[in-house]
Amino acid sequence: CSEEEDYQLVQESRFALGTYNQVTVYAPSEEEGQDIMDAVFTRVNEIENLMSINVEDSDISKLNEKAGESSVTVDPETFHLLDLGKEYKELTDGTFNIGIGTLIQLWDIGGDDQQVPEEAEIGSLLNHTDLNQLILNEDSYEARIEDPEMIVDLGGIAKGYAVDQAVQVIKNHGVEHAIVDFGGDVYVLGGNPDGNDWRIGISTPEIGESGVVGRLFSSDMSVVSSGDYERYFIENDQLYHHIIDPSTGHPTDNELSSVTVISDSALEGDILSTAMFVMGLEDGLDFVNDLEGVEAVLITKSKEVYLTTGVSDLFEIMDEEYTLAD
Ligand code: FAD
Repeated sequence: CSEEEDYQLVQESRFALGTYNQVTVYAPSEEEGQDIMDAVFTRVNEIENLMSINVEDSDISKLNEKAGESSVTVDPETFHLLDLGKEYKELTDGTFNIGIGTLIQLWDIGGDDQQVPEEAEIGSLLNHTDLNQLILNEDSYEARIEDPEMIVDLGGIAKGYAVDQAVQVIKNHGVEHAIVDFGGDVYVLGGNPDGNDWRIGISTPEIGESGVVGRLFSSDMSVVSSGDYERYFIENDQLYHHIIDPSTGHPTDNELSSVTVISDSALEGDILSTAMFVMGLEDGLDFVNDLEGVEAVLITKSKEVYLTTGVSDLFEIMDEEYTLAD
């Protein structure tokens, strides 16, 4: 009998982190598969309750509420992500900045109050995104925002972290083959039980399109995309999407329509895909080429697909409207 028949495929999708989160495991039995699902989503809920800006008593809500007033003691997990946020702001030359929470709130893209704000308001909030104002004490896990008008938002980092944690839970249950897909932040554990790599579709970065530009062959990797087609609104024929350029306070406007990062950490992929999207094609490619163990697929608005060297043999175009750049 084939290896595949030794497994029970169990799949479930639950809503959390503002998105649908799909988990597929090849478990020894249906019952064990269900236990794994419960354990995974319990873990995801823990992370959401610590890090969501929309949960009233989360660490992040408390930290933001006390901005300019006092320190709050946060969970070591929250502390770790705040610390990484500061580190990656430096590494990405400010293109990834967890301190732009007020701008994210002002635009509220995908939310009930989404709007094109006044330029003056954007200009004024740009003065309150300095992450040096976020003070972290690693001995006591205390965090403090000095600037009373600054807030932090982990929306660009915590989903990737949740994916990695979900994978850890699945591994702890002894499962060797699984796919975790939290709203486009994907991790493929092991290879496909048929003995081949997984085939992961890279979404067509166009509004209203549900197809794929191509597919990537991969095992034991995270594949995380950021794009302008996911969360957006249109006003006066202009598209406003959710990836904010911290240098302008506006949705990023360059030649890119999506960036997919392939690495061994969804957390890192989440951060880097957002950062590279803000950097644009040339700077994004230069940036990723200097990183070890990180590959990328960048798709432009003019339907050209750029691949880093490490994935050039692992990606196959499926939509003939798109062409591979040299
Ligand atoms: P990515 O490109 O990975 O990230 C974009 C997100 O990062 C933006 O939505 C914004 O939050 C933030 N961001 C934008 N620009 C930058 C930048 N330059 N630097 C740093 N960060 C940036 N959505 C809901 O609708 N309701 C909810 O209750 C809700 N709760 C959530 C709770 C948690 C803990 C998390 C992690 C997410 C939640 N979300 C919720 C979803 C969230 O608002 C984003 O849509 C989602 O995290 C974006 O992920 P992405 O992979 O689509 O985009």
